[in-house]
Amino acid sequence: MKKRIVSLALIVIIVLPAVMLSSCGKKSLVPDSKIEGSSLYVKKVDGLSEGFILGMDASSVIAEENSGVKYYDFDGSERDVFEVLASSGVTHIRVRVWNDPYDADGNGYGGGNCDVETACKIGKRASDAGMKLIVDFHYSDFWADPSKQMAPKAWKSMDIAEKTEAAYQFTRDSLKKICEAGAEIAMVQVGNETNGSLCGERTWFNIQYIMAAGSKAIREQCPEALVAVHFANPEKAGAYLDYAWRLDYYSLDYDVFASSYYPYWHGTLENLTEVLQNVADTYGKKVMVMETSYAYTPDDTDFSGNTISDGSAVTKNYPYTVQGQANCFRDVVDAVSKIDSGIGVVYWEGTWISVGSESWEENSALWEKYGSGWASSYAAGYDPNDAGKYYGGCAVDNQALFDPDGKPLESLRVFNLVRYGNEVEAVADAIEDVNLIVDLNGRIELPETVNAVMTDDSKREVPVVWDITEARLADMYAGGVNKYEVTGTADGLAAHCYISMVEFNFLENYSFESGDLTGWTLDDKGGADELYVEDKSTDSLTGKYHMHFWSAKSGSVEFTLEQTVSDLPAGNYKFSVSVMGGDGGEQEIYAYAKPSAPARWR
Ligand code: CA
Repeated sequence: MKKRIVSLALIVIIVLPAVMLSSCGKKSLVPDSKIEGSSLYVKKVDGLSEGFILGMDASSVIAEENSGVKYYDFDGSERDVFEVLASSGVTHIRVRVWNDPYDADGNGYGGGNCDVETACKIGKRASDAGMKLIVDFHYSDFWADPSKQMAPKAWKSMDIAEKTEAAYQFTRDSLKKICEAGAEIAMVQVGNETNGSLCGERTWFNIQYIMAAGSKAIREQCPEALVAVHFANPEKAGAYLDYAWRLDYYSLDYDVFASSYYPYWHGTLENLTEVLQNVADTYGKKVMVMETSYAYTPDDTDFSGNTISDGSAVTKNYPYTVQGQANCFRDVVDAVSKIDSGIGVVYWEGTWISVGSESWEENSALWEKYGSGWASSYAAGYDPNDAGKYYGGCAVDNQALFDPDGKPLESLRVFNLVRYGNEVEAVADAIEDVNLIVDLNGRIELPETVNAVMTDDSKREVPVVWDITEARLADMYAGGVNKYEVTGTADGLAAHCYISMVEFNFLENYSFESGDLTGWTLDDKGGADELYVEDKSTDSLTGKYHMHFWSAKSGSVEFTLEQTVSDLPAGNYKFSVSVMGGDGGEQEIYAYAKPSAPARWR
């Protein structure tokens, strides 16, 4: 009898939570407590609100699965990937929607062939795992980003009034289908990275019509959902306040001002916080990061080149390791959570991995058939200049949160652990690269210690053993102006020293390796937004530093950089200078040496 009472009580305890959950939506797999036992170091983000969105864009998942990709749980058993995401702390799934990503014969353009039906499948499975959906309308048949915003084929010849009506209908009909499929839509974007163009329109007067049509449809079809606008390049000074001002000027009805933030392209976290805070304060909007990601390895895993890898000309503030990836995501969450109206961060395509075949040819056959690469050859007719030339596989497989076999990386657990912290003992995670510039007449002196980047993102000096021989050194001395890489081992990890052999330079601080303008006189005539010595080895011809210039203001990059060389004996001297930059349009750059006593040179 007593036993029966005990078992009855147990039944009551088990049943109650189920009843409570069913009364407030589908059963969530998202844990409401800390995942224990992880080796991942995660510094707690203080003040993270309970409802803070920690999302994952999983737009390619269906195409991946169709290509044969399987996903696994942390215990190694095959499992629905949405359940793995939810149980790791992912709260929202984001999915892009293209109007008609197929050619006339029904062949998919790739990039997940993300039509409305695909969004329905993803939304249903996200909902079954207890996660909400963010719908990302590109208002295009294929990728829309700052470099291209092409109208759907069917809308191409429409005037703005017709296109506005089409955007309204498409948004309303698509959301209806996605809702009816079982998705719980929390947010909808009217456009993707719409930096000054959308749906083939290039004036804000027309862009806002498309956005307003989308917003109206969202309010009618999904009144509970937030309406989001989405831009990229927070590092461009003044751009976000300008976009927000225009949207305010046209009285666009929206709730969330969202940004992409790829840390290797998009400036500092401090700047990200500042520009989003400015928009939030000035226009009373919620703000968030809608896309971010980072590499866990420099290596490509699907025979199709990646966006970032060793040697990429990007800012590398974290090592390309599983821990570096987690630290990066944690810091983006921290940067957004510092803003009172910062509501979330979404990781981009963390489930997009290699389709797993042994060669480019075999993978290519799967990308073509199922759309699991970034673009198939069938997209050439719609997007001839990009997809038509460069179609292929995945460029972000090394930024996924699953390995090439579909096993989750420990970094996936940062979604849960960022709420609680997991400050395990820090160990060395990677060795910071060493850059040496050596005069051809000088001596190569490899350092005896290097900096280990610890799992908690601090640095510690550790001894290093370089893999170098006298014969190799002799080759370097004899090799003239050249570049070399020497590898080594420190704290059990690989170390890399990059050596630039250079001719003797008569200029002081000629490569700005002091980290400042020592020796130089700078005259900023134009008032550029950015004009300083920058610590960024990937932009530097030699060493770590270079003179950086950039400006959003037309014609404002106008400056001189000058140095006087004294006591130069009479003789013949070679003169050269290197500059690196981009996106500058027409540029005129002059380099010249002025002899101080012209009479003697005649
Ligand atoms: Ca790849």
